[in-house]
Formats: sequence, C-alpha cells, structure tokens
Amino acid sequence: MSLGLRNILPLAASAFLMIATTQPAVALELLQPSETSSTVTASAVNLLGKADKDASVTVNGEAAKVFSTGIFVMDQVPLKEGSNSFEVVETKAGTAASTVTLTVTREQPAPSIDLTKSKKLLFVKGSFEPSSDLVLQSGEVLPLAVRATSGHTVIAQVAGQWVALEEQRDLESKKLTGEYRANFMVPTITEDVDTTSVQFTLTAASGVEGPSELVETSPAKVGFWSTNQVRLMRVTSDWASVAYGIHEVRLGGPFMGELSSGTIVLATGKKGSSVRVRLANTLDGWISEGDLEVASAATAIPYLTFTSISVGGGTEGDVVSIPYGSPVPFIVSSDQPTSAPPTITVEFFGGHHAATWLSHSATASLVREVTVEQHLRDRVCVKIELAQDRLWGYKVEVTPSMVRIRVRKAPVIANVSSPLSGLLIALEPGHGGPRNLGAVGATRIPEKEINRMTVEALKAELEAAGARTVIVREGDDDPNLGERTSRAIASDADLFISVHANSAGSARGYLRVSGTSTYYKHSASRDLSAAIHRHLLQETGLGDFGNVGSFNYGPIRANTWMPSMLVEHAFMSNPEDEAKMLDPEFRKKTARGVRLGIEEFLRQ
Ligand SMILES: [Zn+2]
Repeated sequence: MSLGLRNILPLAASAFLMIATTQPAVALELLQPSETSSTVTASAVNLLGKADKDASVTVNGEAAKVFSTGIFVMDQVPLKEGSNSFEVVETKAGTAASTVTLTVTREQPAPSIDLTKSKKLLFVKGSFEPSSDLVLQSGEVLPLAVRATSGHTVIAQVAGQWVALEEQRDLESKKLTGEYRANFMVPTITEDVDTTSVQFTLTAASGVEGPSELVETSPAKVGFWSTNQVRLMRVTSDWASVAYGIHEVRLGGPFMGELSSGTIVLATGKKGSSVRVRLANTLDGWISEGDLEVASAATAIPYLTFTSISVGGGTEGDVVSIPYGSPVPFIVSSDQPTSAPPTITVEFFGGHHAATWLSHSATASLVREVTVEQHLRDRVCVKIELAQDRLWGYKVEVTPSMVRIRVRKAPVIANVSSPLSGLLIALEPGHGGPRNLGAVGATRIPEKEINRMTVEALKAELEAAGARTVIVREGDDDPNLGERTSRAIASDADLFISVHANSAGSARGYLRVSGTSTYYKHSASRDLSAAIHRHLLQETGLGDFGNVGSFNYGPIRANTWMPSMLVEHAFMSNPEDEAKMLDPEFRKKTARGVRLGIEEFLRQ
C-alpha cells in the first residue's frame, strides 16, 4: 500500500504497531510508515514514531531525533531500488531495547500512458474540460478539452451542437500530443438550457485494437442562460463575500468585501456553487450561491443617486452618513499608506455622482474630508480621508435609507509605560468543537487544544500587563467565523488577536518546515502584525515564516472595527515545533512576544 507520504499525520489509533522484545519501558510505536512492510515510488522515506521521551532511538545504527513528547523523526532516509530494511531500536538505561524491523520496497513509478503509442482508443480520466459545472450566456466562450489516443478524431456535443476538437502539437517538436481542444462560442439562445454533461466521441482514423469508436461524457455539466431575461438576485446574508474570481487558494481568493443582506445583484452565470454577478459594466464578482435567493422578475433594478453626505462627530468617533435609497451593491475598503493619510472608500455599483452637499460638521475630529468621484459610467466612489496618521477601525451600518460609516477613535493611552492598562483585547483560539480540530500533530493533539492553551497563556500575560480580555470562543464550542467576528465587534474590544498553529505537507520531511508567522488583511492592521511578528521571533527563537498581508481569514478580514491580526505560532506538522507548543514555558514566551508587540504598536 501507499505510504501516504504527502501530508498525512497519523490520525487513526489503529495505525500503529507495538512490537516488544523483552519488557521495554515504553512500547516503540511506528507512526509513519504505519505498516512494517510497504511499497513506494519515492526515493526517500520519512520515519516518524513514538518512544519513551527519555529513550534514544536509532535507525540502522544512526540516531534519530527524539523530542520531549517522545516523538522521534528521521527525515529523508534514502531508498535504493528494491527492498530496503530498517531496524528501528529504542534503548533506555535499565530497560531492554525494543526493535521494529521495517521493510520499504522502492518501485519504479508506473509508466504514464503514451497517447502517441497506444493501439487502443482511450480517454484520459480527469482530463475533461469543463471540469466544474458552468452556466454561461450567449457570446461567452466555453473551452472544451480532453486527452485521448493521438492521431484520431474527437468531437463534442454541447447544447445540441457538434464541435470538432483539434489535436494540439508540441510547440518545439511539432509532434501530436494527444491533447484535443476547441473553443466553443455560446450561440444566441432564446430559452434557457438546463445543465447537461458534454458528450465526447473519439473515432479511430485507422485500424486500432478493440472498438473503433469511444463515447464518454464529462463529469462536469454545462447549461445556458438566454440573454433575453434579467436575472436579479437578493443577498440573504450580512457576510456575503464577493470575490474577484474563483481560485483554488487556501482560505479563498482575493475578496472585494462583503455585501449586506437585501442588496440586489444582477446574475450573469454560474461556476460550481458560485454565482457570477455584474457589479459594473467593467467588473464582475463571484458570490456563493448560499448567500443569494432569486428575486422576482418584477423587482426594481436598483440605481443610486444621492445629493448629500454628512459628517459629524460623536463620543465613539465620527459618522459619515450616505443616503441609500436603492439597494445597489457597494464595497467598503480601507487603506493606510505609509506617507499619506489613511482613507476609507465606499464604492457603489449602479448609480451616478449627484452629490453637491458634502457637509462637514465642526464636531468631526477624525475625518478631514469626504469627496465623491464618478468612476466610469456606473461606479460612484465616496472617499473618506482621515485627519490623523492612523485608522483605528470602522464599522458599516446599513438601513433601508442610509449607509453609515462609523470611524472609530483610537483608545487613549493614559500611561505610556503601561500602554495596555484598561484596554480590552479580544482573543480567538482557532477551531473548536468535535469536528473543527484544525491540524493534528504527531502526538495526536488537535490544533484547537494547542490554540486554547496558548490563548490562556496570552490572557494571563495581557491581564498581568493591565489589560482586560474577552475570549470569543469559550470552552470547546465552535461558532462559525461570522459569529466569531460578530462577537469580537460586539465586545467593543480595542484589538483582536486570533491564535492558530500552522501545518505543512511532510512529503519532504517532518522537520523541513518550521517557524512563526503573523497575518493581517487590511493595511491598517499591518503595524500591529509587524510589531508582534518581530517580538515573537525574538522571544521564541523560532525561524521566520513571515508577516503575511492580504490574508483572507474571515475574522481578521471582516472585523474592521479594531486592528485585527492572526498568529500562527509554530507548526503542528513539525514534531519539534509541536513539542515546544506543548511546553507551558514556551507558551509563556509566545504570550510575552505577542504582549511586547502590542505594547510597541500602542506606543507608536
Ligand atoms: Zn488553524
């Protein structure tokens, strides 16, 4: 069986062996490979197991690293072709040694099928395009592709039409490649076509072994929307994220922002479970199907004009009020450049610039000026420029008649030598509950536990420095990301810190990837994240895995009411990092690094 070397940490309790010779102190467990005999195609194997924490472990006489958890590792042990035998020996003073003998057979990888030499007609599994369900409109291009035996004919049937695919040639050698492609232009259709599979037919050009025709359908389906109907949809959630495109990126592709419930959007197509909406003539966005419902065909197409905007001051901060008489989509974003004042931008899609009354009240202390610009035909942009160097936070409130942007005052730091005094810090231990474990380490501890223990250390550290704390996930509950965000905002905390532990693939070794990293989404949180990053590196001595911007984790993206960042304190997938995170002394160092970083940020 395959060794599962790619990114698999031992999860199943049954997947270990206990082989004892004469009364050993602790039975030696082999975690990866999990069987004493296995076959691989890789040129090296990573050995992972559990022994007594005070024992030493050798593999064919060479010492493996044993951590305080008892987990031992030997990465990238070379394999020769054929059978490789490893004797793993655990020894501890005063007890008998225990030994596991492991056989790993290295085979040549199975040769990939040569489509240019195959005598039989065949389609390569998984090579069909479209590869995810699509709904398109006329005038759009549907790429069709498949890999199949070279030198024959492939046609596809889509929406009742036959499309010939052309076999591609290698650009250098000019030889046929077995890759067949066509770009199908969706014709004008007057009625919607339900999604159906695309049928591909491969017909032999000359004598082949076996059947001379092969028919298969694509696993993904394609449907068409006629363009003679307006498809309006209504947003049903207050955290409906809009993405620029659909990407296979961890935590989602780049997001423009969130739409609020009740917003009306124009749908123009679908891919998988995402709906494409036309925000402006030159801008599409993608919204999850679950955040939308079909609006009645008689719904008014929203269009926004407002003639006045007002800015006033209050105890919490300033309020910018923008009349919102029509539920057009709008996106709020912020920027905090290094050499210019911070700005908050509200971009409305579907409307024109009609504002002539931009009144600034003398009570406004944070906002210097509000301006309005027209971007092309259908985008109206309200720009809120601050009078100070730092944007602490803002909140968006939507009513049926008004959009209010509340710009938040920075907390007053009464005592520079103890800047945390009196501040409220929201802490989020990542993951939680019976299913959302996060990454799982070699000792089988889930990340949610490590995060919770680290947050406890952080709470103690911050409170000792005079802060108050609020934990947005108590005990082992698992509120969703929107709920975590709402709780942090509702608490009116001054700062938000999310604590996670990282994980990486182990194909090239368990100890290869290590280090500490910090994350932020909006540039207003960059300085907080950077200061914590610097102090974490100093306090923990861990390697530098970076201060990462534009990060899409929901609670630091949607919580704009306070500077918000996330700590990935070390790697669950690295047994050395895992042993450190399980050590209370190390967790204190992590907590100290975060506290010192916050204090530095507050003093800036
Ligand atoms: Zn996590």
